[in-house]
Amino acid sequence: MSEDTGRAGQAARFLDWLASAAAEEQASDNGDDDLPLIELAELACAYAEQAFERAGGPQRALSLDCQRGCDYCCHLPVETSRAEASRALEFARENLSAEAFRELKRRIREAATAYPLSPQRPPAKNPSCPLLEDATCLVYPVRPLACRGWNSRDAAACRAAFERGVTEVTVPVDTRIRGVFANASEALLRGLTRTRRDGPTHLVPALAALIVLDRG
Ligand code: SF4
Repeated sequence: MSEDTGRAGQAARFLDWLASAAAEEQASDNGDDDLPLIELAELACAYAEQAFERAGGPQRALSLDCQRGCDYCCHLPVETSRAEASRALEFARENLSAEAFRELKRRIREAATAYPLSPQRPPAKNPSCPLLEDATCLVYPVRPLACRGWNSRDAAACRAAFERGVTEVTVPVDTRIRGVFANASEALLRGLTRTRRDGPTHLVPALAALIVLDRG
């Protein structure tokens, strides 16, 4: 099975799940479906990636100023779900050494003490995302949809917003790319809320809640 076929199948399963979530809500049925949260996050991601390709995303991305090592946006709160946070945490657990994973948990606990973050505060004063190490995302292949959609046509504007505050500086973005991932994120959250399994949260507090019972 090719990567495209696999992704198309996952995207279709995501749409099926959304339809069944809407039906459950109409029936006031709190029936739990079988799909684990992490798998739902994976299906939503496949759905978004497929939409990204169909919207000409890879071509559009060529005009962006985003590049590896640029991490201004990784100091902003990331709106997500527990499903996506779980997926990121499991990826980190599987790919980091035991010592590095313990250190990651320490950083998560520390970063969580700063929440909730004020939108007025310049991101430079926020703790960086604990999943960021040496200006690189530790969970890049499974990063949340909000992170995937975040983009910029001007890294200098990102830097100004980082230093002076996002309410002070407008960063020019590709709204089509942003929209594709925002729609998928919203759809995932809507389905999770309808099935009463999850709700909107921020990445750092969600990670902090997940590691509370984690003794690894
Ligand atoms: S998950 Fe990765 S891309 Fe998203 S804010 Fe954290 S370090 Fe940055």
